[in-house]
Amino acid sequence: MTGVSSPQQATPAKKAPRPRKGKGEGQWALGYREPLNKNEENKKNDDGLNVRARIENIYAHRGFDSIDPADLRGRFRWWGLYTQRKPGIDGGKTATLEPEELDDKYFMLRVRIEGGQLSAEQLRVIAEVSSTYARDTADITDRQNIQLHWIRVEDIPAIWQKLEAVGLYTTEACGDVPRVIISSPVAGIAADEIIDPTPAIDDIVERYIGSSEFSNLPRKFKTAMTGHPSHDVVPEVNDISFVGVVHPEHGPGFDLWVGGGLSTNPMLAQRVGAWVPLDEVHLVWKGVVGIFRDYGYRRLRTRARLKYLVADWGMDKFREILESDKYLGYKLVDGPAPEIPAVQGDHVGVHKQKDGRYYVGVAPVVGRVSGSALAKVADVVAAHGSDRIRTTAQQKFIVLDVEESKVESLVSALDGLGFQARPSAWRRNTMACTGIEFCKLAIVETKARAAELIDELEERIPDLDVPITVNVNGCPNSCARIQVADIGLKGQLVLDAEGKQVPGYQVHLGGGLGLDAGFGRKLRGHKVTSEGLADYVERITQNYLKERSEGER
Ligand code: SF4
Repeated sequence: MTGVSSPQQATPAKKAPRPRKGKGEGQWALGYREPLNKNEENKKNDDGLNVRARIENIYAHRGFDSIDPADLRGRFRWWGLYTQRKPGIDGGKTATLEPEELDDKYFMLRVRIEGGQLSAEQLRVIAEVSSTYARDTADITDRQNIQLHWIRVEDIPAIWQKLEAVGLYTTEACGDVPRVIISSPVAGIAADEIIDPTPAIDDIVERYIGSSEFSNLPRKFKTAMTGHPSHDVVPEVNDISFVGVVHPEHGPGFDLWVGGGLSTNPMLAQRVGAWVPLDEVHLVWKGVVGIFRDYGYRRLRTRARLKYLVADWGMDKFREILESDKYLGYKLVDGPAPEIPAVQGDHVGVHKQKDGRYYVGVAPVVGRVSGSALAKVADVVAAHGSDRIRTTAQQKFIVLDVEESKVESLVSALDGLGFQARPSAWRRNTMACTGIEFCKLAIVETKARAAELIDELEERIPDLDVPITVNVNGCPNSCARIQVADIGLKGQLVLDAEGKQVPGYQVHLGGGLGLDAGFGRKLRGHKVTSEGLADYVERITQNYLKERSEGER
């Protein structure tokens, strides 16, 4: 094989936790089949997918209190269901309370949207489910899903019926499984696309999602595919990414990257050095997921991601095992590296499609929408002659197939609903995770705080001429990708001027994706209270604007 390189640096931010010497790490392929922790035991006791029958036949009839705790806080995830946080519990108590003290009797439901691809009818059904069963809540996530809150167990079968009638589902939307496949939201329509990955996504979903072959992985497994030169799916931070590239002899296909991931010990994905044609993507994907299932570390949850295996083995060994008879059974073709874009695409604004029509990308505030707003979007989209919407990996959405004569009318109709095609740089580049409003792991508020922050910054620095990404997380996990933002904010309790513990953030500065891919630095002392956040971001930005040299990002 060719020399292996990383798309950028693949260096872990800090040393990964090491296993105890002489003990296995729970790798099935090495004979460690006995569960080494509670999660593994639960998964061995019963496949997470089997909980659906119990929800439909028992729990929906007998109510929340009848749910077996191993199903409630474990297997429900296999169907996109998490218990949500009881309102009013202080962030300081997150780590000290038992799970049952934090649980509300309602659920978050994640609707899985492969590649972010939705029809107007599907959007209408999500809107209806939100209004009828979810108190009108809806958030577009940074993995192209839509999440609803306040779901009662009694309503879940009816919700599934409605979603599945239009081809939507929640199967394996959470849990230790292959999660939604994120894909370029302009797949198949962008004029400058290298290759459309949609047929490969369809192949994988049809063959493997909801199948017991991969329903017990060591932990979650994230997939990204893009054939767009702007690498619009954050490929550096997925377990596996297929990135469009043209092979000098074989033509358009994908460069294979593996082992990316954030959270604790963030690592950037590394190039395998192989070119994969479209019709082999599902085989390669199956091989890599198979390796993860068989060799992935299951003893410690903190080491149970593919990135640790890739880091420990190195790429030569990883590729050798992937090509072995047990997995692929053939040699991959060596391939060229794709060109790395300076800034990854979010597709906000008005852009021409390859068929001459236009697509319009708009920015909700930090992905927050609502059922009633989505219903209106579906109407507006239909009234402008389109039937296709796509969610993005940046908490935005795009309307496809708009005739030139209808573009401005669509832009203004969406603007009237609060979704701007020409947003400020602050609105466009700020993301937030769920936070304390619903998430049981959260320590601080995120969405509402980020929305206020955008308002304040739009007033203080209205004509920012560069994209500065601000990603707000409610805890040390990285659902909103704090380590790869210009300004990453990690929710925690901090001390205010009087020495009192208050909600705030540890700041990570200077992270990025694309050409600048790397993790932000956690500067000692760069902790900010929630109250002081706007002052802090303004100060950092003004300093950058004053000190920057020509072209400095
Ligand atoms: Fe919850 Fe933490 Fe993820 Fe935010 S980053 S959604 S608070 S787990």
